[in-house]
Amino acid sequence: MPGSSGRRVLRFADGGWGESIGNHVALDLVNTVAWRLVPDRVVDRLPDGASAVRWARFAGVIDDRQAAEFSAEVTADPTSGDAVVKQVRALRERLYSVLRPIAIGDEPRGDDIDALRDSLIDAHRDAQVITVMPLRWSTGLRTVRNLPVELGLSAWRLLELEDPLRIRQCQDAACGWLFLDRSKNASRVWCSSADCGNRTRARRHYQRHAAGSSA
Ligand SMILES: [Zn+2]
Repeated sequence: MPGSSGRRVLRFADGGWGESIGNHVALDLVNTVAWRLVPDRVVDRLPDGASAVRWARFAGVIDDRQAAEFSAEVTADPTSGDAVVKQVRALRERLYSVLRPIAIGDEPRGDDIDALRDSLIDAHRDAQVITVMPLRWSTGLRTVRNLPVELGLSAWRLLELEDPLRIRQCQDAACGWLFLDRSKNASRVWCSSADCGNRTRARRHYQRHAAGSSA
């Protein structure tokens, strides 16, 4: 069970859960879609502004005070919350379309890169320069409307600073979560050994057993 061994999980009403396993906020954002590799099973964990605020607090993008203020904003004005989460989801899908090929050793498509480029430029247009050298950008996250921009800046930092050979996709056939493998010998294959690792091992064991008994 998730959470039973001290793991930090974000619970959802349907019994599902989110985790911060990406080793990077931008990858944790990509992982707010569950079961990506099975089209009729896909679950989007960011259906509305309130869920985006809740996830942002869980992922450490905002603190408790900001979470309280942003929640009040999206409650008072659900339309603006919807607009925010729509931008967040668009960024997330653009990022995923570029990162997934990298994670499985392919080249991203040119038009996917162009779409992501637009999001990255938008983020910098709407952010301020916080320090000149080293050059740092931020919105200060003063309103929930800053959330898509801040996540765009985070996506830029991922692409600029991280090693593409360390970006992996969980090897489970259904999961699809991405992570940065920071293990010393670059050997991580599961989003979580306790979930996907165990499930896949159990399935392989069953398949071996079934194949053995029919032979
Ligand atoms: Zn997984």
